[in-house]
Amino acid sequence: MKLIPFNKPFLTGKELDYIRAAVESGKISGNGVFTKRCHEFFRKRYGCAGALLTSSCTDALEMSAILSGIEPGDEVIMPSYTFVSTANAFVLRGAKILFADSEAKTPNLDVNEIEKLITGRTKAIVPVHYAGVACDMDSIAKLAKERSLFVIEDAAQAIDSFYKGRPLGTLGNFAAFSFHETKNIISGEGGALCVNDATYLPRAEIIWEKGTNRSAFWRGEVDKYGWVDIGSSFLPSEITAAFLYAQLEWIDKVQAKRLALWNRYYSLLTPLGDAGKIRMPYVPEYATNNAHMFYFVCGNLAERRELIAYLKERGIYAVFHYQGLHKSPFYQDHHDGRKLPWCDLYTDCLLRLPLFYELTESEVDQISQSIIDFYR
Ligand SMILES: *Cc1c(COP(=O)(O)O)cnc(C)c1O
Repeated sequence: MKLIPFNKPFLTGKELDYIRAAVESGKISGNGVFTKRCHEFFRKRYGCAGALLTSSCTDALEMSAILSGIEPGDEVIMPSYTFVSTANAFVLRGAKILFADSEAKTPNLDVNEIEKLITGRTKAIVPVHYAGVACDMDSIAKLAKERSLFVIEDAAQAIDSFYKGRPLGTLGNFAAFSFHETKNIISGEGGALCVNDATYLPRAEIIWEKGTNRSAFWRGEVDKYGWVDIGSSFLPSEITAAFLYAQLEWIDKVQAKRLALWNRYYSLLTPLGDAGKIRMPYVPEYATNNAHMFYFVCGNLAERRELIAYLKERGIYAVFHYQGLHKSPFYQDHHDGRKLPWCDLYTDCLLRLPLFYELTESEVDQISQSIIDFYR
């Protein structure tokens, strides 16, 4: 029996050539030729004011928290159904997290919940574009504008996806992308910060370079460099950037292939959705689908557990996803006790199917048929 893993990192074939070029250039620390090419890619293709590669999306979120001036006691609103890094980045700066529930139709945060959570101490809203599907950004921008709040997009899963024709990652003050090997575009570990308001760029660069003005020094803008702010070592090496650049060049092929596989799952499983056995993924009118993930929602936790085991017996690795952060061992005592029923539903019932570049159509057929058999 051929095993079908949940994920398999995809190589375009150029990665090692570019890494060799980086190594032979004699400069393999950060902010070299390949890093600059990647920055350029984000500026040109998506139109952000500036992009900075980071060692992870987690890093980019931490940079966003610093740039937003988050201080102890400030409040930050985000969905509970997200990865720990979304919250950790702000908790590290002393923020209190107010978790909003997800929407009924998608795991994205429910905009109607945000307004109820805003207080005089609220500093930022952090929408997470789950599965690369946009949050309702106009409504979020309106709330943020009225109260002068920062909007930081957790765009970890959202590369090359759009909201009303505008690229995700360019709609908040800052946005964080991930190139972890489970994402569409990868570099093993890796991320990028997009800065959409150019006035924050100089400080972003300083925070990125350990709190020094080294970037300005290399450009000849200052005649010596020194410690001018807080910061950390957020930049990846040229080896990572070289790998990433090979992937970015291939992005249209990656997206097209993933989308074809996603659509195939969708049409094969729609009868189960129509029969009320499972709940199919939903992409709102205003959003595009970058096919980061194919998920559906099972009837209950036990059913999901049985389905995972059933698929595993057939060599298919399907996995669940986040455990709502409001119930996490670390944060449950800080949560205000509000119930978040949609988050709980996704925690217990959401199931993700294998989806990666080298997955074949016949494997999608086989996986879908196994799921149909399970529900028969
Ligand atoms: C993957 C992911 C992250 C973390 O990305 P890293 O690059 O591993 O730090 C953060 N948020 C979301 C929503 C993610 O999917």
